[in-house]
Amino acid sequence: MNQFNIRSHRSQTGTKISHARQTTIDIQHSTKNLIVGAGLAGCLLAWRLEQAGQSVTLIGSTQLPNASAVAAGVINPVTGRWMTKTWNFDSLQPQAEATYRELERQFNIQCYHPIPLIRYCQNSIDAKRMGKRMRNPRYADVLGPPIPTGEGPDAILDTHGSFHINQAAYVDLPLLLTTLRQHFAVTGAFRDETFMHAALKREPTGWAYRDVEADKVIFCEGVGMRDNPWFNDLPLTPAKGETLTVECPTLELPRAIYHHRKWILPYGDHSFRIGATFSNHDPSPEPTQAGAQELLESVRSFITAEHTLTIRQHLAGLRPTTKDSRPLIGEHPTERGLHVFNGLGAKGASLAPELTRQFLAHLLEGEPLDPEIDIARCLEPTT
Ligand SMILES: Cc1cc2nc3c(=O)[nH]c(=O)nc-3n(C[C@H](O)[C@H](O)[C@H](O)COP(=O)(O)OP(=O)(O)OC[C@H]3O[C@@H](n4cnc5c(N)ncnc54)[C@H](O)[C@@H]3O)c2cc1C
Repeated sequence: MNQFNIRSHRSQTGTKISHARQTTIDIQHSTKNLIVGAGLAGCLLAWRLEQAGQSVTLIGSTQLPNASAVAAGVINPVTGRWMTKTWNFDSLQPQAEATYRELERQFNIQCYHPIPLIRYCQNSIDAKRMGKRMRNPRYADVLGPPIPTGEGPDAILDTHGSFHINQAAYVDLPLLLTTLRQHFAVTGAFRDETFMHAALKREPTGWAYRDVEADKVIFCEGVGMRDNPWFNDLPLTPAKGETLTVECPTLELPRAIYHHRKWILPYGDHSFRIGATFSNHDPSPEPTQAGAQELLESVRSFITAEHTLTIRQHLAGLRPTTKDSRPLIGEHPTERGLHVFNGLGAKGASLAPELTRQFLAHLLEGEPLDPEIDIARCLEPTT
């Protein structure tokens, strides 16, 4: 609704960027693309640019809040209380699978795991809604047949039946990101450090950051974007999430993701991932007692009472969600060469492969961005 204003660095600080030209900068490293932030967005973009023959420098701190490091990487085509199909899922899924498979081949890793997903109805309204979705042809490729009450695993308290969600998967994001960062570190293209925005200076032909000279700077900072003087007016609304890894020697569940109010993912060695909380009220990325409690209570309400869960790991992070639930991608309206790639929200694993592909086509071939993801939608209307 064109209600947001992106302020330029110049107008915000009142300082003239040309002032930077008076400083002597010893440029030792010339790159076409400087990427800031080495989470899923930054790493995947760096890899795509490299594949396209572009030079890349990737600067990202592994010490700052990093949603990708705590995400379970679940790709679920039907989500939320209303059981709605993920936006653009029909184009996102094939690109996600192809991209993760290509990365697996190139780096000899296994990061993409297709898996059955079973969603349990919590009450009769849920069961009715599920029936309605099943009659909708748009859902034909993602919903499997209903499973009558009591036909699932014995350990699960099933009061209103369940149904299969097809085309689900989870992506081992920590493995993928470690692999990509190592790959870029070998050639000196990845630097594990904090990027200082004040040190980025405009040059006659592009941008200079300390010893790096770049044509383009692409900010993939997740919630770190709030400290970015060029893009901090974009409507990012961080949503905290927490997950647990628990151990339970007595709980046996066939390989699948089981979704009740929360989901439980068995890893097959008596350890289980439970996720995730969602809160817009806590801006800290720290795990909380309340978060752990919420997850444990939720799981206890849908597995039989004899199983004791022991917490092995408790992770928390901030999702880079947006007011209109759409990504924030594009070039700064007045500062040529500064780009943002953000707003992957709660679905980075599904979105990042296709959106990095589209962004590359935009950068290298001039393809227009989908207006739904373009930050142009956030600009104040010019009257
Ligand atoms: C608990 C939880 C569970 C989730 N589960 C799922 C899931 O199951 N499936 C799914 O698809 N998504 C999930 N998500 C969402 C997913 O994590 C995000 O969509 C995705 O990881 C966002 O990636 P990103 O690269 O944009 O941001 P991030 O992963 O946050 O990466 C941004 C990076 O930029 C770096 N950075 C920022 N500022 C600077 C600076 N000044 N200098 C240097 N570095 C900087 C940060 O250190 C960080 O590494 C979950 C998120 C959370 C919190």
